[in-house]
Amino acid sequence: MSAIDTLPPLREVIATHGLSAKKALGQNFLLDLNLTAKIARQAGDLSDCDVLEIGPGPGGLTRGLLSEGARKVLAVEKDARCLPALEEIAAAYPGRLQVISGDALKIDPLAYLTPPIRVAANLPYNIGTELLVRWLTPPEWPPFWQSLTLMFQREVAERIVAQPGSKTYGRLAILAQWRAEARIVLSLPPEAFTPPPKVSSAVVHLTALPEPRYPADAATLSRVVAAAFNQRRKMLRASLKGMAPDIEDRLISAGIKPTDRAEQVSLEQFCTLARLVAT
Ligand code: SAM
Repeated sequence: MSAIDTLPPLREVIATHGLSAKKALGQNFLLDLNLTAKIARQAGDLSDCDVLEIGPGPGGLTRGLLSEGARKVLAVEKDARCLPALEEIAAAYPGRLQVISGDALKIDPLAYLTPPIRVAANLPYNIGTELLVRWLTPPEWPPFWQSLTLMFQREVAERIVAQPGSKTYGRLAILAQWRAEARIVLSLPPEAFTPPPKVSSAVVHLTALPEPRYPADAATLSRVVAAAFNQRRKMLRASLKGMAPDIEDRLISAGIKPTDRAEQVSLEQFCTLARLVAT
């Protein structure tokens, strides 16, 4: 296959800069640039967008995003060892790559980005879910991003797209599907990464809806759903007891049987319940 750019292959970059993978930073690198370009294509048309990338590492996906035409990539990386390799990419794409050294959980990237904004990342497994929940639960909607194209462990990806009645249906499915269209667009075996993780991975593409599917307050919905699924085997009248003294009446008003379990409740019913709990 043809090279996507004129920079050195990633194995060489890793050797030159001594980027041995650190488990504590969730470092499983993608070294096949045709694969990273393919992931970048899943993010949609990047030519008129700024792209936020969390955890660029040696820059495989960063190079994919740039070669696929991203207007600008803002890459936030915690491991300072990666910075020289990323600077080489910045030099090859003048004015289009800005690197911020630091913890993505502590940095507000918005000051550096101009809408429209897309997010694309092969996320470190230890902060992936937390970042996704933050991006899905701002008080106001639409959010700062148009789409999120994110690599997760396969099991997390399945939780994001899960439907009621399935074992993987829970808080992530509700929060993602309430305000976004979510699909698994690519599956990757462990061997696609260096070093290979223990489990398979998948890329999820989420497109922000112009408005949530059903009205509800984000914080209340999060609270209700967290309580309902924290004790997912319990009947809702028990798991949600702390939400309101007359929770059984409110469940009935939302069209939910108080004896149902959380995994039987639809997104629409959870939103109705969140509105009733908020009053
Ligand atoms: N994007 C690269 C790739 O696809 O090969 C690397 C992906 S690797 C799974 C995750 C990256 O996130 C690593 O480079 C790691 O150093 C970085 N990282 C870990 N924790 C981070 C944090 N809190 N903030 C920013 N980057 C972080």
